[in-house]
Amino acid sequence: MTTLEITGGRVLRPDFSVERADVLVDQDAGEILDVGDVPEGDETLDAADCLVMPGLVNAHTHAAMTLLRGYADDKPLDAWLQEDIWPAEAELTAADVRAGTELALVEMIRGGVTAFADMYFEEPAVADAVADAGVRARLGHGVVTVGKDDESARADNEESLDFAREYDGYADGRVKTVYAPHSLTTVDDALLAEFTAEARGAGVPLHFHANETAGEVEPIVESEGERPLAHADDLGMLTEDDFLAHGVHVDGEEIDLLAARGTAVVHCPASNMKLASGMAPVQRLREAGVTVALGTDGAASNNDLDVFDELRDAAMLGKLAAEDAAAVPAEAAVEMATAGGADALGFDSGRVEAGANADLAVVDFDAPHLTPVHDHVSHLAYAVRGSDVRHTVCDGRVLMEDRDLVTLDEAEIRGRAADRAADLAERAD
Ligand SMILES: [Zn+2]
Repeated sequence: MTTLEITGGRVLRPDFSVERADVLVDQDAGEILDVGDVPEGDETLDAADCLVMPGLVNAHTHAAMTLLRGYADDKPLDAWLQEDIWPAEAELTAADVRAGTELALVEMIRGGVTAFADMYFEEPAVADAVADAGVRARLGHGVVTVGKDDESARADNEESLDFAREYDGYADGRVKTVYAPHSLTTVDDALLAEFTAEARGAGVPLHFHANETAGEVEPIVESEGERPLAHADDLGMLTEDDFLAHGVHVDGEEIDLLAARGTAVVHCPASNMKLASGMAPVQRLREAGVTVALGTDGAASNNDLDVFDELRDAAMLGKLAAEDAAAVPAEAAVEMATAGGADALGFDSGRVEAGANADLAVVDFDAPHLTPVHDHVSHLAYAVRGSDVRHTVCDGRVLMEDRDLVTLDEAEIRGRAADRAADLAERAD
């Protein structure tokens, strides 16, 4: 057994207390062995002036959309998708997706993210990028059937399920998969019911967008005579293994339904603000007992993948939505970005405790914007930035040490992504 000792810092415990402690990691098993006064490790990571916390979880993104960062802004969701994003995405190749995903991984590891959920195309290229980078991910091929004939609509669903079956457990088990119908309004109902049932039989969970905009809710209410999540429940789409992105426009009955089914919601505050989609009732969801995670959504609607930004946005927007400054307090925001995300994605991460996955972010508090430190958790929610992360560890392996990436060649990846993005924009024009 090879061990890693993270030494000299403070540790954020699962109960949100902060104590002076070291962390010992079993690098072979990828697990935390001990927290506190630990035996000496084979290797050490210095954590002086730092807080060791669970690695952040970006529970909803489209990683390769980094290539479309800043490509089209300041439009509502429908027009933005139809006029800009979908035409560009139609030109994407597997090599583009690989390059964009690698860029996303550089950015996420630099910001302390150790796990993410991706819904996109050319997903095997994403899985390969994840394997090389060393992070953990829940991946799915996104299905859209609008505008497709029966045969290609069916083939798209089959591709999603085939990918899920083939790649679950990939990269030494760090990759897990989903069936990923894009949303209730972009996938044909009959196919949705059929392939959801097939996914259940194969033990594959679901990741989909739901109740993101008011404009998406109305047509479902009109055609089905029920709210979108009641309809999703009829289609068998809500179980405790599933997670849906957004959940902005949910009513009280839908919140109770989510709580009863155990389906997690991934809140994406920056994307919801930028596309003016609305304010998710995060405080009400949490009070009802729904697992809430955080996601950046794609870089084109954010426009970065800094989960610390998201955490602050979630706390701020949650207060505005509830018209209550006590809503979504600092601890809740940190919980959503760590344990909440890990629970939504089904990873035994998100808590610094013995036996959990050794997925960790070591945050350097030796900075002017983090001085003084009355309360570490307050700083995590309101003042820490992704660039304050000093070391990132996933599955017991050091992915970034003293701000230097270990597994990825940042300069090469940035250059390749910039070239591919320029070429993509030219083709899409
Ligand atoms: Zn999305």
